[in-house]
Amino acid sequence: MLLQVGILFTLFASSCSAKKVDYGYVPLGHNPTLYDAATEPIIQLDDVTFADTIYGADTAFIVEYYADWCGHCRAFAPFWKQFATLVSDWRPIVKVAVINCADPFNDRTCNDNNIHSYPTVKYFPRRSSSARNGVPLEALHSGDGLREQLLVKVRDEYLANRYADWPNPDFLANVRTYGELWTGTPPHVDYLAVIFQREERGSVGVQMMLDLSKYRQRIAIRRSVYSHPLTRVLRINQFPAVVVFRRDEAIAIFNSRLNSGTVSKLEQIAMGPDFTTTTTTTTMATTTMPSWSCRRNPEKCKELYYVSETDMLKSVRYALYNEVTRGSHFIQGSNLTALANFVELLANHFPTRRSPQRKVRGTARSNLNLQHSIRARAVFIELRSYLKTRISQGRIPTSEWETQFKESEKRHFSPFPEEANWQHCRGSTPMLRGYTCGLWTSFHAMTVHAYMEQFKNSSFRGLRLLHSIQGWVQSFFGCENCKEHFMDMTKRLLPMEAKVKKAQDVIFYLWEAHNMVNRRLHGDTMTEDPEFPKYQFPAQFLCNNCTDKQHQFDKREVKNFLVNYYTSIKPHNSIAGRRISAGAA
Ligand SMILES: Cc1cc2nc3c(=O)[nH]c(=O)nc-3n(C[C@H](O)[C@H](O)[C@H](O)COP(=O)(O)OP(=O)(O)OC[C@H]3O[C@@H](n4cnc5c(N)ncnc54)[C@H](O)[C@@H]3O)c2cc1C
Repeated sequence: MLLQVGILFTLFASSCSAKKVDYGYVPLGHNPTLYDAATEPIIQLDDVTFADTIYGADTAFIVEYYADWCGHCRAFAPFWKQFATLVSDWRPIVKVAVINCADPFNDRTCNDNNIHSYPTVKYFPRRSSSARNGVPLEALHSGDGLREQLLVKVRDEYLANRYADWPNPDFLANVRTYGELWTGTPPHVDYLAVIFQREERGSVGVQMMLDLSKYRQRIAIRRSVYSHPLTRVLRINQFPAVVVFRRDEAIAIFNSRLNSGTVSKLEQIAMGPDFTTTTTTTTMATTTMPSWSCRRNPEKCKELYYVSETDMLKSVRYALYNEVTRGSHFIQGSNLTALANFVELLANHFPTRRSPQRKVRGTARSNLNLQHSIRARAVFIELRSYLKTRISQGRIPTSEWETQFKESEKRHFSPFPEEANWQHCRGSTPMLRGYTCGLWTSFHAMTVHAYMEQFKNSSFRGLRLLHSIQGWVQSFFGCENCKEHFMDMTKRLLPMEAKVKKAQDVIFYLWEAHNMVNRRLHGDTMTEDPEFPKYQFPAQFLCNNCTDKQHQFDKREVKNFLVNYYTSIKPHNSIAGRRISAGAA
């Protein structure tokens, strides 16, 4: 028996121990990934492979840190895939990798790498030794732009280190003899190509060197400016152009203006007459619109819209634990204040009953309790007390917050169903909806519940609740662009202070702000779930009276609807296992 346990332990330990991986590796972890290991030229890393793959590697790396729930990462993914395909031949020099920082499995690596927002892109020079070597780059929405950015990094790394086995981007010096032309080319290399480019700053020559880097033992590539005396000797008058020489033959074997076929021509030369080209194709996931439509089948659609306790608990845990503990070693200054205010909001207003005001006919009072949320609220109350004792010190170690959270969660029998499926927020694919949907739902539910409990109280300050949400977004929301848009909206486009005057405005404000986001994202094929189009909420199938004949919202009806919607919460487990199905129209 002991032997068996020992064998099992050894197997487990070896499967989890650090290791070096390459293209095609399927990462460990719990979350869905945005990339496909089988078809895309992208190395997917995880907590057990990141360090061993990147640190000490013989190639440089460019890494995207993403979160699978982040809309901007999904919008960015096609550009990253296109970029990875464009530079897939550069892999002897630099490799493209990703890691999913939303996956708790990868927390340690993402923290070590100081990742505060998504998507983040970093360049690791060859033989990097730690996370400190990662240099931030821009997450440009252009495959060509990303390639250009990487090219500059690789060129600069060469210029700083002059590795003998990397392509040499220096321009040709003023050579007088054929022998001088070959200076610096290793003796075993049989061919030399010279790219003549018009602009010194142009990248075409370096790009070609990298595109052909896997043949660098057969063909050396140099670049030259168009004013070089060789252009006259070789009678080159159109740029950019390429000329190829074979060792010991002074007459060029190939002389042509650069075009789309040049790289494969040079490949053929490098490989000799027997060479046949192979190409790898990259397939990208496409999303097709389902035939089913909420407009045509409103009753069916209506069923899919509800507020789920499960969704809120999952999202709030992620917001308070994963988002807050990511990155820095300390929570301090305005971040600490934002955390304390957000926890205060949760401790006071996270809904623990299905209907705080209205009596649900035929339902015993105790049946209206949301059992998991009651325990979650106890966690928030404990965390609030903890923060009160520590806030005066101005900062707390992130690890301490982590411990406080975990211990409190344990004391209250783990109220957050991390492993449960998303319910209303479940997307038609694992990449869609989820966390941010649950976050919005929690924000709305808390403000509606606060309003319902306190609107008769003259000291009710709705604006304070909204400031707590805004503070959390500003300090901790990992989706960088969402944060920017949200801050711009709440400060400039729809300033909170100007909009929230009366108690009920707290409900209207979030409703209007969320609809503004829905309008902006409607039709965005990367982030919009085709089964859950971003309607102006509530759509007619949810509330027929909410809009008049001119399609204008009637605010009284909208308020009634929102109060009803956000207080009719489906308890965790009551709908467990239910799947969202497209069905027939
Ligand atoms: C603060 C914040 C800012 C964001 N900014 C961006 C961004 O800039 N770019 C981006 O790509 N993504 C952004 N997102 C994510 C995006 O808004 C959605 O959450 C995501 O696309 C998932 O959409 P969804 O269809 O699940 O519905 P969501 O928009 O997440 O809505 C969740 C649920 O809320 C209800 N609801 C919808 N509209 C309203 C309303 N007006 N009032 C009350 N209830 C409503 C519905 O039941 C809906 O299913 C942001 C998320 C948050 C929380």
